[in-house]
Amino acid sequence: MSATALPRSTEPASAGRARAAEGLAWLALVAAASWLFVALRGHLEAAHAALGYLLLVLGGSSRLGRSWGIALAIVCFLAFNFLLVPPYYTLAVGDPRHWLFLLAFLVTGVVAAQLLSRAQNQAADARARAEEIDHLSMLGAEALNAGRADEGVAAIARVLLDRLGLTRCDIFQQPGEAGGGGGAVWIAGAPAGGSPGGGEPLLASAVARGALALEDAGGRVRLVPLPEHLADAFDGLGEARVMVVPLRVRSHVVGLLRLAADRPLRLDAPARRFAEALGYYAALGVERVRLAAQAERGEALRASDRMKDALLASVSHDLRTPLTTIKALAHEMAGDGDARAVVVEEETDRLNRFVSNLLDLSRLNGGAITVAAELVPAEELLGAALEQVAGAQGGVEIRTALPADDLLLGRFDLVLALRSLVNLLENACKYSGDAPVDLDVQRQGERLLFEVSDRGPGVPESESERIFEQFYRGPAGPATPGTGLGLTIARRLARVQGGDVAVAARPGGGSTFTLSLPAADLELPTGAA
Ligand code: ADP
Repeated sequence: MSATALPRSTEPASAGRARAAEGLAWLALVAAASWLFVALRGHLEAAHAALGYLLLVLGGSSRLGRSWGIALAIVCFLAFNFLLVPPYYTLAVGDPRHWLFLLAFLVTGVVAAQLLSRAQNQAADARARAEEIDHLSMLGAEALNAGRADEGVAAIARVLLDRLGLTRCDIFQQPGEAGGGGGAVWIAGAPAGGSPGGGEPLLASAVARGALALEDAGGRVRLVPLPEHLADAFDGLGEARVMVVPLRVRSHVVGLLRLAADRPLRLDAPARRFAEALGYYAALGVERVRLAAQAERGEALRASDRMKDALLASVSHDLRTPLTTIKALAHEMAGDGDARAVVVEEETDRLNRFVSNLLDLSRLNGGAITVAAELVPAEELLGAALEQVAGAQGGVEIRTALPADDLLLGRFDLVLALRSLVNLLENACKYSGDAPVDLDVQRQGERLLFEVSDRGPGVPESESERIFEQFYRGPAGPATPGTGLGLTIARRLARVQGGDVAVAARPGGGSTFTLSLPAADLELPTGAA
């Protein structure tokens, strides 16, 4: 980006000379007018001449400003008094009424010159501000549109360096924002290629106190409260040559701006306004750097997650085939009376469940689960679940109760719902000890609730959400074999089809896990009733 510094307001010597020449020309005009008025003295009233002089004062002050305007007013007053007010060719005033006339003339001349010059100054100020605003909006757009976020910040540092006449300008990211802890993280600075240089204690103090840190030529550090506007930070700087200012976005400190000069940092009003605006751009630039880094980290994490899911899917898929063979052989050997084969079969079942869970998880994470919702009687899901758990309930009795007079129907994917319910039943049998597990179903509004209740250790209230997290094993977990995946999968399989899984304490001890699924009503063909 091309950083153009704001025009400075010192008047070049040639302009001063031109003004002096024009001033002399106006004086010559006053002399010519005086000669004319004297020549026509017999035909003119004094008031006519006064008006002529007044026009000259107004014209001169509009062209040359206040000082020349006042000088012209005095000269015109003297000429008028000397040449046109009797007695002529003396400054004495014969008629006392003329005093009032002369005084009015002088005051009108001076005030007109003052007013004109003030209006001109205001117009010049407005032009300068408009230029400043144009300049700032252009800088802001250029800085924030820079291809890379840190390039934008570097451009802002360069402009601040040029405009404020600094020796160095650096922009840092707030440590918490950079995620690394420790000191502030340097993003960019000017002049390019230089090192950010000392000032570390200064940075540390500014960071720790959220205040403005100042350092003078002798290395003495001072902290002052951070004003609401950055422009006010330049008041009372004393001899400070280095200044560290926290940069805020919506009152939240995102970074630090470090300004260093080889003279005390004193700025005039336009430079302060400029520093304030650029300070805000710098804060936005730092925020942009942070968001860009966050997006990059997020993308890297997503890429690594995609890789893990792909690996998980392929490994678990390849494990299934040998497991099926082992189970079939163990089953055959158990039939021949080999007690060890029963253990092999049980362990293979456990491994199989683990592999299925891993496969489900990778499919859920990869969004590869398709839901085929259909009308299913609750009874069908219960029957299938009991059948599937039969081998893995470790001798725990499962009691089921269906409302006798009601046909409960749901609209869900039977295969997915089955995996969810089986996970809950296996957990209940695993954690219940010897006490039987109850499996009930009821309709509540638009939902079917499948409740699995056990008399196990229960789930503390504080854990009731965490136990659904991936690989999290709660307080009851470590004493029993498991992986911390069952509940995650049960809940996610329920949620993909508009249901859910939740846990509640069971009155009398233990817990109740509820699988809720969308309920459905039997649609009778029209006219069938
Ligand atoms: P795993 O059982 O393999 O640890 P789960 O995801 O199925 O994994 O369960 C997560 C945690 O939830 C378990 O470690 C356990 O602390 C708790 N939990 C699950 N089911 C029950 C239950 N029926 N009774 C008590 N705690 C349970």
